Amino acid sequence: MIPFDLSYHRPDSVEEAVATYRRLERDGRRPLYYGGGTEIITMARLGQVRTGAGVDLKGVPECGIVERRNGSLLLGAGLTLAEVCERGGWAPLADAAGRVADHTSRCKITLGGNLAGQIPYREAVLPLLLVDTVAVVAGEPGLRRERLADVFRATLRLPPGDFLAQLEVPLHEADGPHFAVKRTRLDWVDYPLMTVVGVRAGGRARIAFSGLCGYPFRDAAMERDLNAGRIQDAIGHIPGPVADDLHGSADYRRHVLAGVLQDALEVLRA
Ligand SMILES: Cc1cc2nc3c(=O)[nH]c(=O)nc-3n(C[C@H](O)[C@H](O)[C@H](O)COP(=O)(O)OP(=O)(O)OC[C@H]3O[C@@H](n4cnc5c(N)ncnc54)[C@H](O)[C@@H]3O)c2cc1C
Repeated sequence: MIPFDLSYHRPDSVEEAVATYRRLERDGRRPLYYGGGTEIITMARLGQVRTGAGVDLKGVPECGIVERRNGSLLLGAGLTLAEVCERGGWAPLADAAGRVADHTSRCKITLGGNLAGQIPYREAVLPLLLVDTVAVVAGEPGLRRERLADVFRATLRLPPGDFLAQLEVPLHEADGPHFAVKRTRLDWVDYPLMTVVGVRAGGRARIAFSGLCGYPFRDAAMERDLNAGRIQDAIGHIPGPVADDLHGSADYRRHVLAGVLQDALEVLRA
C-alpha cells in the first residue's frame, strides 16, 4: 500500500506535461514525472519516495516514438525497455536493456525511467554513452537538444521541471561489432555484479560499465589502455571506488572484470 494520497495526471503534449508539472509544483504537491511507475510505486511503498502527484509521460506522443532519420535512431523516453528491445533495432541497446530486471518488469520500465531513476545501475545508458547520443529535453519553452554526455554524468541531471523526451542515437558512428555481457552473483535476473557493453567505432574499442562503481560510466584512460591491450592498467584506472557489496567484493569484481575485458577485446579488436 502507498501510505499517502497522490493524484494522477496524463497530459497529451510536451507543453501540457511541463505546464502541469509546474502548476503542481507551485501548489506544493511535489510532483514527479511518471514513466513506468515501477520505481516510484516500489519506493513509495517503502517510504523512500513521497509525492503528491504523478505526471505520466506515456500520453506524450514524442515520448513514444521509434524512428530512423538520416542514419540516426530516435527513441522516445516513454518506450518500455521491452519495446526498445523489440522495435529499437540497435543490438547494443537491445542487449543492455534486455538484461534489465525480468520480462514482466521490462514491459513497464521505461527508457527514460531507467536513466532517471535512483537505482544506480541504469544499464540501458551504457550503449548510449558509446556514441554521441543527443538527449532531447522537454522544458520551457519546449524541446531542446543537448549532448547526453553533458546531461548524464553518473545520473541524469536536468533542471527541476524538465524531463527527458527522446534520445537520438547516431548509429553510423558504431558500425563495427559489439559486445555486451552482464554478470550477476547467482541468478540470471538480478542487479549486475557488472555489466560491460562495448562497440568498435573508427577502428577503436569503446567500452562502458555498470555495477563496477556506484554509477555507470565510460572512461577515457581505461579505453586508452584497453585499446593498447593493457587490461591490468585499465583496471587500475577505474575512476571511482570499486563496489564492495552483497553482490561481490571489490577484489572479486576486479578479478571477474579481467576475464570479461579479455573476452570484450577479442570481439572488439578482431
Ligand atoms: C523489480 C526491479 C528490478 C530492476 N532491475 C534493474 C536492473 O537489473 N538493471 C537496472 O539498470 N535497473 C533495474 N531496475 C531499476 C529501474 O530501471 C529503475 O527503477 C527505473 O527508474 C524504473 O523505470 P520506470 O519507467 O518504472 O520509472 P518510474 O518509476 O516511472 O520513475 C523513476 C524516476 O525517474 C523519473 N523519470 C521517469 N521518466 C522520466 C523522464 N522521461 N524524464 C525525467 N525523469 C523521469 C521519475 O520522476 C522518477 O524519479 C529495477 C527496478 C525494479 C523495480
